[in-house]
Amino acid sequence: MRSLAIRERPSPNHSDRGAAPNARPINMLVLHYTGMQSAAAALDRLCDQAARVSSHYLVEEDGTMWRLVSEARRAFHAGVSCWQGEADLNWVSIGVEIVNPGHEWGYRPFPEPQMAAVELLCRDILSRHSIPPYRIVGHSDIAPDRKSDPGELFDWPRLARAGIGLWPPAARDAVERRGRGVGVVQHAAALADLARIGYCVAAAMQQVSLAAFQRRYRPERWDGLIDGETCLRLRAVRMAVEAAQAAEATRRRTRFN
Ligand SMILES: [Zn+2]
Repeated sequence: MRSLAIRERPSPNHSDRGAAPNARPINMLVLHYTGMQSAAAALDRLCDQAARVSSHYLVEEDGTMWRLVSEARRAFHAGVSCWQGEADLNWVSIGVEIVNPGHEWGYRPFPEPQMAAVELLCRDILSRHSIPPYRIVGHSDIAPDRKSDPGELFDWPRLARAGIGLWPPAARDAVERRGRGVGVVQHAAALADLARIGYCVAAAMQQVSLAAFQRRYRPERWDGLIDGETCLRLRAVRMAVEAAQAAEATRRRTRFN
């Protein structure tokens, strides 16, 4: 593979990933938006020692890519975070910042050259690390009480078509069930699916985790309420996660036999 044209803008904000036997493997990819008024302002902040934040990469709206931190180092992008019961995800992840003003400064669609660059960069990262599709997440998936990035305009289906992350097809009658209430049993099943996919479902987090799920998988409406369409979507994503996990287990068995 031709190596990508990536510009270097080293950030001082990183640490080592821990020494063996305590080092955790890199098995997660976290996508963010910058949420600042310009790419230059975001780069300055991610490289400001006082800010104590960074990411491994940044992708501008015209597709320009920057490397801020080596993948071998732990960048400070996820903060307090949780996925599939695991916390402190900076240890195990690669973080990509995608330039967009975000909900605070005028959230807007991610332009085509930027999405094409994000796709190339993600494929490049996935070629180096064993990152399963259900561990490719948005920042709001792993910190739903604090974060809403990369948000409902981010084109996850496009990435999934390129083999990056999960995007199960929608059920045929799903949209008709949007906004329709569900019973107690369905409600409990929906929360179980949400947890199985990886979201934190502690009582205080349930609604924000549901909203984060909807932003990503049902972006037309992310009110955090469990309606019929959300139930169907949760079940479809859970099944995709379980299928990917089963495929991975089979691969691992074959490798060791
Ligand atoms: Zn973020």
